[in-house]
Amino acid sequence: MDISGRWRTIKERIASAEKRAGRPTGSVSLLAVTKTFGPEEVLAAYKAGQRDFGENRVQEWQGKAPFLPEDCRWHIIGRLQTNKVKYLDERVRLIHSLDRFPLLQALQTAGEKKGLIWPALLEVNIAGDEAKAGLAPEEVGDFLTAAADHSAVDIRGFMTIGPFAAPEAEMREVFRRLRLLRDETRARGIPGAAGLDALSMGMSRDFETAVEEGATIVRVGSLLFGERRQDDREEA
Ligand SMILES: *Cc1c(COP(=O)(O)O)cnc(C)c1O
Repeated sequence: MDISGRWRTIKERIASAEKRAGRPTGSVSLLAVTKTFGPEEVLAAYKAGQRDFGENRVQEWQGKAPFLPEDCRWHIIGRLQTNKVKYLDERVRLIHSLDRFPLLQALQTAGEKKGLIWPALLEVNIAGDEAKAGLAPEEVGDFLTAAADHSAVDIRGFMTIGPFAAPEAEMREVFRRLRLLRDETRARGIPGAAGLDALSMGMSRDFETAVEEGATIVRVGSLLFGERRQDDREEA
């Protein structure tokens, strides 16, 4: 099967999972993770109908984006270095990996300078995995309170990366806990928390489970584009 065939299959599998979970059709958006793949492969997905694309590294994105149609919506999903923030612009639809104060401040400064507001998700390390980026669940409330006076950053929800190669039940539990964290945070009345809607969770091996547990964005790379030659999942 080629990229457009795989794209259709993934879209159908998302739709079936939505149905199983009793969620409206179209409530979950597919983010095509294009890291390590070239403009031709991205364009094949674009031609199939895909518009949202996720990149891990700012420099790789900068090299690729000029070769692609202007209505591509780009998402930054990898650990974002503060010294790379200056390269971001209005093509960035959503930053999934806001995980620390210095990055919040760098985004504020760059946003003021460029006259942009960055839509962003807080990356949460649900499983407490030491090797992973992300705020601990108990840090989220204070982070949101601090972010409330950063007018150039608009926090829309949460993102998590599940444990690598964990059994399905364990993944499901991680996704469920991210959803509960969002619901509890909204209920706490922290400034800005009422607008927390997005849940970016689930990848190639577990996106259907994530949809069943409330994902609004699933991030799928290898199932759509094929195996990557190297795995650079955490870096920006
Ligand atoms: C690479 C990556 C993905 C996609 O992973 P696949 O298993 O290839 O679908 C999703 N999210 C993040 C943060 C990634 O780095």
